[in-house]
Amino acid sequence: MKTKTPKDDNIGQATRPKHIPQRACIACRQSRGKRDLIRLVYSTDFVEIDLKGKKPGRGVYICSRKKCWEAALKGNRIEYGLRTKLSAENRHTLLEYGGSLPEKED
Ligand SMILES: [Zn+2]
Repeated sequence: MKTKTPKDDNIGQATRPKHIPQRACIACRQSRGKRDLIRLVYSTDFVEIDLKGKKPGRGVYICSRKKCWEAALKGNRIEYGLRTKLSAENRHTLLEYGGSLPEKED
């Protein structure tokens, strides 16, 4: 005999949180609220860290944790996402920033 009650279908509706825009990290592919991600934006000829998330241009998002920055910079995910090439200097700047982030676990 099935034990499911009509009530089960309503679970979650009353407690659903307010809608927060979600973005996916280019390294781990997890969707998170924008506050947990750091935006990178390509402007003129340099990939910049856009801490306020307001700069115009094509952007990608990476979690605010070291592991994701290292993963994103190890491959060409930033370059692919922004359709540009990172110079060695630019990559170094981003790696340094990533290295200053905490080692967070989920
Ligand atoms: Zn991530």
